[in-house]
Amino acid sequence: MENTNSDEIRMGTKSVWAGEREFRAYGATQIPVVVSVTYEHEDVSKWYEVAMGRQPGYIYSRNSNPTSEALEKKVSILEGSESAVSFSTGMAAISGTLYTLLRPGDRVVSVKDTYGGTNKIFTEFLPQIGVESVLCNTTDDEEIINEITKGCNVLYLETPTNPTCKIIDINKFALIAKKYGSIVVVDNTFATPINQNPIKLGADLVVHSATKFLGGHADAMGGIVCGPKDLIQKIYHYREINGAVLDPWSAYLIIRGIKTLKLRISQQQESALSIAKYLQSKKLVDAVNYPGLETHPGHSIATKQMHGFGAMLSFSIFGGLNSAGILLPKLKYANMAANLGSVETTYGPARTTSHVECTEEERQALGIADGLIRISVGIEDTADLIDDLDQAFEHLESCLDASN
Ligand SMILES: *Cc1c(COP(=O)(O)O)cnc(C)c1O
Repeated sequence: MENTNSDEIRMGTKSVWAGEREFRAYGATQIPVVVSVTYEHEDVSKWYEVAMGRQPGYIYSRNSNPTSEALEKKVSILEGSESAVSFSTGMAAISGTLYTLLRPGDRVVSVKDTYGGTNKIFTEFLPQIGVESVLCNTTDDEEIINEITKGCNVLYLETPTNPTCKIIDINKFALIAKKYGSIVVVDNTFATPINQNPIKLGADLVVHSATKFLGGHADAMGGIVCGPKDLIQKIYHYREINGAVLDPWSAYLIIRGIKTLKLRISQQQESALSIAKYLQSKKLVDAVNYPGLETHPGHSIATKQMHGFGAMLSFSIFGGLNSAGILLPKLKYANMAANLGSVETTYGPARTTSHVECTEEERQALGIADGLIRISVGIEDTADLIDDLDQAFEHLESCLDASN
């Protein structure tokens, strides 16, 4: 069997082949969707060995399932980790990881710009079990270092951030945090393993919302955590009992999605850069956030730690939500929805998408203006996406002229 784990094999090939052959059955060329809740054992003593984890095999699909395991293998190889464990959603993966790692009296250091749901874990749920959550200003390096040195059981980072695309230097903080005995977790949902490999940059654990780019078609939810065997085993054990397992159908859809991950990301980020440049040329746009722009404050760190700048960008328009309300419905090739990472281009104001869980004051503190619009660029032809935006802006301009 080919070794898809080898560094000599490139990411596009890995996306297709990693983990495939060992999970196939019946000579089929695709991984089977194993819907069985339970698994039969004729030999009682062997059954016991499997149940105790001393022999390979399956007992019950809340513990493990072959289709989900195939996905875990694939993503683990793409991230360059020893092991991985899947969950029903990205939030289940993130909360499962944090609840496994943290105990009352512990301290977790993170940043203010994490995904809205993650932010709620830090501000609402971890304090309930006596874990101190310290959320630093995302681009204040000194503050982050200072808080790590005060004591840090888990350093939790997310880069690029949602929706303002701030960039955090993973390697710099991972090295410092490790010295202080911390476990470093990175949410790699926006970058995907095609563009960024946090483990190579010094992180211990990588978390993903597989609902987004990994699945890529907005038709399956899932989450995954990659890392060293000992830590993944602990998180796996939490999941066995917590029960937030990935459905095998979703696991299959995500496996299928990953086969085109590299192709999708290449097309999507090429369009994202063109759209970012187009938006910069518009008078009605007052800020464009895309790490691929040389004017972006995180551009040089992004260039250092990423292979590409990704498919997510955001921009704010003069006239705020009112202008967004005129512009967005005019777009022909875009969903207005909360999702991201799909083959279809998706637009949404941050206040109704990534940060819908936050209060008005919390959003303002994060610098998320009401008119901030997030774009998840799809795989449509670049020129069509630009033309579409162009006709929508023409409409907005004429509406604003008429009302002046
Ligand atoms: C969507 C998202 C999550 C949560 O994932 P779900 O699958 O929706 O639970 C976590 N982090 C980031 C960066 C996300 O975009």
